[in-house]
Amino acid sequence: MPAVKADAYGHGAILVAKELNRMGVDAFCVACAAEGISLRKHGITGEILVLGYTCPDAFPLLEQFRLTQTIVDYHYAVRLNQYGRTIHVHIGIDTGMHRLGERCENIEQICHIFEMKHLKIDGLFTHLCVSDTLKPQEQSYTRQQADAFYHVIAELKKRGYSCPRIHLQSSYGVLNYPELSEDYARIGIALYGVLSTSEDTNRWKDILHPVLSLKARVAAVKELLAGEAAGYGLQFTADRDMKIAALTIGYADGLPRSLSCGNGSVLIHGHRAPIIGRICMDQCLVDVSQIPDIKAGDIAALIGRSGQEEITACDLAEQAGTISNEILSRLGARLERVPVL
Ligand SMILES: *Cc1c(COP(=O)(O)O)cnc(C)c1O
Repeated sequence: MPAVKADAYGHGAILVAKELNRMGVDAFCVACAAEGISLRKHGITGEILVLGYTCPDAFPLLEQFRLTQTIVDYHYAVRLNQYGRTIHVHIGIDTGMHRLGERCENIEQICHIFEMKHLKIDGLFTHLCVSDTLKPQEQSYTRQQADAFYHVIAELKKRGYSCPRIHLQSSYGVLNYPELSEDYARIGIALYGVLSTSEDTNRWKDILHPVLSLKARVAAVKELLAGEAAGYGLQFTADRDMKIAALTIGYADGLPRSLSCGNGSVLIHGHRAPIIGRICMDQCLVDVSQIPDIKAGDIAALIGRSGQEEITACDLAEQAGTISNEILSRLGARLERVPVL
């Protein structure tokens, strides 16, 4: 059940889901109803599970677009049942993340949800919150979460409720806890060939291959004379005669502004060009003094390969003090998504 929320982690949800549909994948998860509706409007078939809260005003949309709603807790189930039309749901079970889901101790309430006339219970799931590390303490926490989840399933069975499909893993769960494999795995970041950090991605590099490159064009190349400054706030001053280029990408496209002033770089013709000055909303400046034959229209890679060089989403994340998930999911809507098969 691939996670195609946040525009498929910036990759383009329609593009990704269509390709997955074509490959035979017929279950998806998204964060909110609007994301599910967009998939349906573009012809995506199969089960679409909304992982997050849907406001009662939008209950009719769940029905209209055949979306499956997560039961975020018992009270939510009551409210959704009151809507009075059949809605497909998966019950979220909170086994220790303490975000969404009915608490695993509340077996009675969970059973009540099964009795609700208008809820069609297709699944039960929990979410692991420390499955990304294999440190002893986190391992035992994950074990406890799994045990608590399986205990709920066993109790339900004992009371005669026929158990629907169940799932606990996301990307790190699949990699680090393969034994917790059930009917679905909600795979997000790993689907796109990366993990949250460089360290993790390197560890699994034999089976994960990043599918996304981020590119921009050179808009203009110009001389910057020694002593001249450039960009907003004139935060960069040339200490020698230089050649600089303006690129067609800025923080509105998801390039973190914290990569300004030399904290980040781009690849052009196999060379590394440091970002100079402040990144603007729609553009940024790079030092291309060392790059011969550079001209307007040339392509710069912000994520991806150029010659022998490579910049990964994890590199960007490290420079910006975050994880690759955030870098990818914040890639801007106006970036053109170009499938390269
Ligand atoms: C986002 C999300 C996922 C996917 O997580 P990854 O770590 O990207 O694989 C799975 N389950 C839930 C509940 C989520 O919110």
